Amino acid sequence: MAETTKLQHGEVQNYVDGTWATASEDGQRVDNPATNESIARVGFSSESDVDDAVTAGQDAFKTWRRTPIEERIQPLFEFKQLLEEHQDELAELLVQEHGKTIGEAKGELRRGIENVEVACGMPTLMQAGHVENAAPKIDETAVRQPLGVFAAVTPFNFPGMIPLWFLPYAVATGNSFILKPSEQAPLTARKLFELLDETSLPDGVVQLVNGGVDTVDTILEHDGIEGVSFVGSTPVAETIYEKAAANGKRVQAQGGAKNHVIVTESANLEFAAEKAVSSALACSGERCLANDVVVVEESVYEDFVDLVVAEADRQVVGYGLNDDTTIGPLISPEHEQRVRNYVETGISEGAELVYDGRDVTIDGYENGNFLGPCIFRDVTTDMVISREEIFGPVLGLMPAAGIDEAIEIMNQSQFGNAASLFTGKGSEAKKFRHDAEAGNLAVNAGTAAPMAFFHFGGQKDSFFGDLHAQAEDVVRFYTDETVYIERWPDN
Ligand code: NAD
Repeated sequence: MAETTKLQHGEVQNYVDGTWATASEDGQRVDNPATNESIARVGFSSESDVDDAVTAGQDAFKTWRRTPIEERIQPLFEFKQLLEEHQDELAELLVQEHGKTIGEAKGELRRGIENVEVACGMPTLMQAGHVENAAPKIDETAVRQPLGVFAAVTPFNFPGMIPLWFLPYAVATGNSFILKPSEQAPLTARKLFELLDETSLPDGVVQLVNGGVDTVDTILEHDGIEGVSFVGSTPVAETIYEKAAANGKRVQAQGGAKNHVIVTESANLEFAAEKAVSSALACSGERCLANDVVVVEESVYEDFVDLVVAEADRQVVGYGLNDDTTIGPLISPEHEQRVRNYVETGISEGAELVYDGRDVTIDGYENGNFLGPCIFRDVTTDMVISREEIFGPVLGLMPAAGIDEAIEIMNQSQFGNAASLFTGKGSEAKKFRHDAEAGNLAVNAGTAAPMAFFHFGGQKDSFFGDLHAQAEDVVRFYTDETVYIERWPDN
């Protein structure tokens, strides 16, 4: 404890039933990835900590589910206002615990706040259906009802936004909610709960439970939890999907990605290169929507390679709080090494490293996990670097005869999170929309990120489940549709 008080952000506690409490188990350090200095310590929750959170949620649910929906959304309006007022502080926390740039951090928060705004429309979103005279003298109505306590387990790369893909909707639909944030980046989530504590939300409706794998396993096994939302890597998503389902829970599990971009001869090449590179390198490539492979029509391949190299050369690697930085550090030394190993693999597989960002030292941040852009050309589909998620500032380029071959290459991926096409032809856009096997598609945009009033898609090994995060999908995930059949024989 004495040690944690010396840390800039002290000890990260749990928030249960409206009270902050130290988790029972010791936990781990939270480091600033730009310096690798400890800035906080996060405790890990035991079975009894999780049980306390579930009990608080169950107790609160009894009243919360009966609270009029107009009243249930009022704390969310207050929360939205507090998020706006504290966005600079939240953005700085994101930079400190994750490493992204301050601009990226503010963009992340905007996307999170959007979800709070959409959830404030729950009185409309929660409406189901009604049919008069569905059968002789019978009317039928479907009603969406909350179920109880839900949990979400979230990753390190969007610590401010991803919890908000779930929490506002769970609350507005009348459920109680438990968040288990990433143990690598738990500070922004703590701040979100400090702000929630300032709203009129009744105690016990939302809980923050910190921890690692064991805490997640306890959540998955707890009888009092109705459903689990997960966002993280594919192997874990698959395990969560199986364990949650085996324990009789609803589950939606979003996994990893290997996103492809197609650039055809008819595209505006400068625009495509700028967008494809910025999407690949944003948040140091630690994004599930990052571009990983660009498949380029061979007639413009050489020109496109030159444009991409020029874009890579414009990047500034550094600390996220410096205004000119475009690429911050990777989350940990282990992850940096993992990404560097992929670069070595690409070289040994025979791809040509046309921009080598490995030799990078940042004055004042010599111990940080920095890696500059690494651009490969002539990547082929059999290479590891074209198939596996790298999650770093690494981009591969490959030529294709035309859109048909490019889509064929893209669809060989085990993942199906996102894909983009840069084209000047409507016919190519139409083909792409019909044939591309990914859940989030974009034409002439580098990052296929849906607004909060659409669900966040994902297919193949990028998603396990049927109802996704955000918007109507998550409302359906958090509710059960009861059907009422009504007959009055005299009418
Ligand atoms: P991760 O899978 O290592 O961890 C995610 C969460 O799961 C954390 O809270 C962690 O504590 C928990 N966890 C880790 N291992 C576990 C295990 N064996 N059993 C139970 N729980 C476990 O992911 P990460 O490194 O934090 O995040 C990066 C990954 O998330 C990337 O693969 C990225 O593509 C993916 N991601 C996907 C989306 C999407 O919408 N599809 C969005 C963001 C990130």
